[in-house]
Amino acid sequence: MSYDLVIKNGSVIDGSGAPAFHADLGIVDGKIAMIGRISEKSAETIDAEGHVVAPGFVDAHTHMDAQVFWDPIGSCSCYHGITSAVMGNCGFTLAPCAKENAELAIRNLERAEDISPLAMEAGIDWTWETYPEYLNAVAAHPKGINYAGYIGHSALRTYVMGERAFTEQATEDELAAMCRNVQEAVRAGAIGFSTSRIHQLFTNEPVASSVAEWSEVRAIVNAMSDTGAGIFELAGEQTYRDPDLKDDYFGRQLQLAVESGVPCTWGLISAKTEPQDWRAYLELLDDVAAAGGRMFAQVHTRALNSLVSFESHTPFDSWDHWREIRTLPLDEQMVKLRDPTIKAKLVDIATDPGGKSFPNHWGAMVSQPPNWEKVRIMDTVDGEHRRMSEVAKERGVAPAELMIDLALEHDLKLFFRTSAANEDDGDVLAMMRHPHTVVTFSDSGAHVGQIMDASMQTHLLSHWVRDKEAFTLEEAVRMVSFEPATRWGLHDRGLLRMGLAADVVVFDPETVGANMPTVEHDLPAGEMRLKQTARGIKTTVVNGQVLLRDNEHTGALPGQILRGPLARSVK
Ligand SMILES: [Zn+2]
Repeated sequence: MSYDLVIKNGSVIDGSGAPAFHADLGIVDGKIAMIGRISEKSAETIDAEGHVVAPGFVDAHTHMDAQVFWDPIGSCSCYHGITSAVMGNCGFTLAPCAKENAELAIRNLERAEDISPLAMEAGIDWTWETYPEYLNAVAAHPKGINYAGYIGHSALRTYVMGERAFTEQATEDELAAMCRNVQEAVRAGAIGFSTSRIHQLFTNEPVASSVAEWSEVRAIVNAMSDTGAGIFELAGEQTYRDPDLKDDYFGRQLQLAVESGVPCTWGLISAKTEPQDWRAYLELLDDVAAAGGRMFAQVHTRALNSLVSFESHTPFDSWDHWREIRTLPLDEQMVKLRDPTIKAKLVDIATDPGGKSFPNHWGAMVSQPPNWEKVRIMDTVDGEHRRMSEVAKERGVAPAELMIDLALEHDLKLFFRTSAANEDDGDVLAMMRHPHTVVTFSDSGAHVGQIMDASMQTHLLSHWVRDKEAFTLEEAVRMVSFEPATRWGLHDRGLLRMGLAADVVVFDPETVGANMPTVEHDLPAGEMRLKQTARGIKTTVVNGQVLLRDNEHTGALPGQILRGPLARSVK
């Protein structure tokens, strides 16, 4: 036999959790053709001596629905070993939606996921109306990695109900139409149905899906169940520490999971405001399993961070005096920030806003300086990151002054990070260890101006395996390949096994990890985003072709659309 690609001399970690073994891996026609000792010829050979050869990672919580059209390699996820991504989470999709109503779908995505409407308008060639047509558009579009997608409730509701979707309940006919659309989508290969019970628009009004009563969600999920396929993903309800609300919500979830038999999934974090809440959610997973349903949580590998910097946003951008400075080019800002009089004025405003309210960059009115206890200086990628409040005290300056000083010391290329959740590493570990959780929650493609969690898989390998030794490499690889691939039904991914798709990551376990994020203006229309690459990943192979070599795109676009089980004959 002769091979298209052979990866030689690596330590094979096949994704099953079984111990590593030394072997070569031979690929023919995009599939794994041999695992063993290979001496035959190959068109291309990669020497993986000293490296781990693992299945490509799967990220099941992304929002790349729009990005796929202007950034086919799926950055920044692709830099961290991801070879397959599930998009359309939380009810936000670009289909079903006719081109003339694109503004409505974009409205939902812009607010809830902070995806630039300018980038979407400039970067998307809207050629579809129905969800099956959207899947075909993605299938026809050149892609670096593989994509699967949910049909999203907000888009669906808006498609069926028009503007009323944002304010009213569906009529019987409208509900029937939504059910039909979901069934059609799942038959055409949608991986499931997603909704949000919580996200809001810019105007602080709910997105379309959050207007729906639970009975609508229940009817749609049960209709999907009738097809015999499909997963249900939801951004859950806020229960405000109210035990009655929580009992009611948990009861409805359990009932729906059991009666529909549909796998149900949602993201889980630990929040400072409700420190033990996540444990109740883990118990719900156990209860659902005991009652005969299937439910699993998507969990993170670290704190969920919001990053600010003078290169992107600061909390003060729209405040008095800051406004005029912050709209200048960065080199001019540096000159101004070095001027003691100007600096003193800025520090004054930022320290004591004098009871006035200012809109932050999400449009919400804030009258308080940030809680500097919670803001940390991100001077290295892995931490420990010191608190602004502590360092300000040491230096005897106001925190706002420290922020300016530190930024200037780094030519404004310094991030300050605030954790929104998962601050306690012990909680993070406990959530990752629960049998009904999956490590996958990057939100990649969304919030690109302030959140960069596409590195959560490399963080698992660097922090939890190498530094903390909380998991073996075999366990960690399984957690980000086989586990998500199996739960999302990606039947031929997530394992290195003969006959399966050749999605492979070759990495150095001694050095693998995330690089420092950077601020880039490379979105369509020049819009800004955070970018984060990885170190220690030698080769990323998708469907048998080398997508990235040393984290650099080779130009290959071997990605495929991954359709659900009812549509697998359609490529
Ligand atoms: Zn999401």
